[in-house]
Amino acid sequence: MSNRNDIAFEGLSIDGVRVKGSAGDVTEIFDPSNGKKIATVAQASVTDVEHTVEIAHQRFIKGTWKSMNSRTRGQLLQKVADLIRDKLDYLAKLESQNAGKPINAAKGEIAAAANCFEYYAGAVNKIYGQTIPGAADGSLLTFREPLGVCALITPWNFPFLITSWKVAPALAMGNCVVIKPAGVTPLSALALADLTVEAGIPSGVVNVLAGPGSLTGEALIAHPLIRKISFTGSTEIGKHIMKVAADGIKRVSLELGGKSANIVFADTELEICIESSLFSAFDNAGQDCCSRSRFLVEEKIFDLFVTQFVDRTKAMKIGPTNLEETEMGPLITSQQRKSVCNYLDVGDKEGAERLCGGDIPEDGVLANGNYLTPAVYVKVNADMRIMQEEIFGPVVCIMPFKTEEEAVTLANNSVYGLSGSIWTRDVSRALRVARAFETGMISINSSSSVHIEAPFGGMKQSGMGREQGMVALEHYSELKSVFIANE
Ligand code: NAD
Repeated sequence: MSNRNDIAFEGLSIDGVRVKGSAGDVTEIFDPSNGKKIATVAQASVTDVEHTVEIAHQRFIKGTWKSMNSRTRGQLLQKVADLIRDKLDYLAKLESQNAGKPINAAKGEIAAAANCFEYYAGAVNKIYGQTIPGAADGSLLTFREPLGVCALITPWNFPFLITSWKVAPALAMGNCVVIKPAGVTPLSALALADLTVEAGIPSGVVNVLAGPGSLTGEALIAHPLIRKISFTGSTEIGKHIMKVAADGIKRVSLELGGKSANIVFADTELEICIESSLFSAFDNAGQDCCSRSRFLVEEKIFDLFVTQFVDRTKAMKIGPTNLEETEMGPLITSQQRKSVCNYLDVGDKEGAERLCGGDIPEDGVLANGNYLTPAVYVKVNADMRIMQEEIFGPVVCIMPFKTEEEAVTLANNSVYGLSGSIWTRDVSRALRVARAFETGMISINSSSSVHIEAPFGGMKQSGMGREQGMVALEHYSELKSVFIANE
């Protein structure tokens, strides 16, 4: 692994080796917190995509990986988990510098990625088929078979973690993978490929092709030997991927955008709720698909909640990403900050009242980064664009409700359905609302959406398919029925 104090050149990872792209194109990679260049990364051309998918396909049909006995395959995945833990500090620094994450958050994500590999290491020998009591004279069995070469396309907000959520179950099932990381955050996926080689996973099983979505991504999703596309990113690109996949009847999993609700009833433990809601809204500077960016607060405590939440928002420690105490870092790029600022203009013009935030630090240590102070809106209505569209930045809208029914109606008034929280001490109400809420994941008295043991994914335009848990293995495999005649 390269020394992170230098401007590293990072080659593509093809067949276990780091190589330049065949066209010689490169991308410069910058630290979002200070604008400094941290690496130059090769870009994969269409020729590189064709070559890599062909290699991965050959490795798949050769069968070294898919036919490896389950204990050995599990041990190699466990080795990846161990290597991630050994190199946690290095990987966290890399992720922090590339994706603009406060170092403590980056450490947590890397540790979670190790847990993910460990989970699927243990899952490899727990993938069962069925014996079916059929009417015919013989035996009916089912097997779970790997799919072949899977294209894994990831976004920039949780680069290492989301890549791990895809790679670990895909490998556990015996597939080969080609990873296409987001253009601005390719570094940790390349590091992961190196770790799989170091762990002893055969070459060509894990490949990484950095490059722009419009070129590298397009060539990958259209390639006829790709059997499955697992995509995490915007709903807009997700729709496009589904259309392209239709041509080859490729399997598709989509983890897309969100506009999740945070429903706060008056009987909540307010202090705990506010601290946790702050995290759910502004974690990763709001660039989180599960961000609870629509707060629905029971009218009886609305003013108190708003006062306390705004006070805490103003006190957030926004700072350099290498400091342990930093609570919120920069946005990923200046373009992303501009896009968020455009939404602030929209919110202001729509007549919502901005109680704080939306400032760009112009002096001092933060001035060269893509920082933006967190914004809180009140006097919003359900149909405003800032209440309906995914802003993907540190912007929260808070709206009052009177009854439980109204809270559910408002929460469901969205094309998205990814995540959400309910805050109440009334267990029956919590469960009633959770069942009525059209969303893939919900937490009660918590802001947590991610549990490696449980399905992760969205309803409505937030996606299809699920990651994590044992169910993810189904999305990286086909079910095969076998009938054995008695004679
Ligand atoms: P994006 O859709 O712009 O890009 C995602 C990935 O797709 C990148 O690797 C990009 O290069 C690639 N891509 C772009 N165009 C492509 C094309 N034509 N063909 C193939 N690949 C293409 O998303 P982003 O800006 O990187 O990430 C932010 C979005 O991701 C937000 O909408 C967020 O909600 C969503 N997201 C969802 C989840 C989830 O689990 N539901 C998790 C994280 C992020």
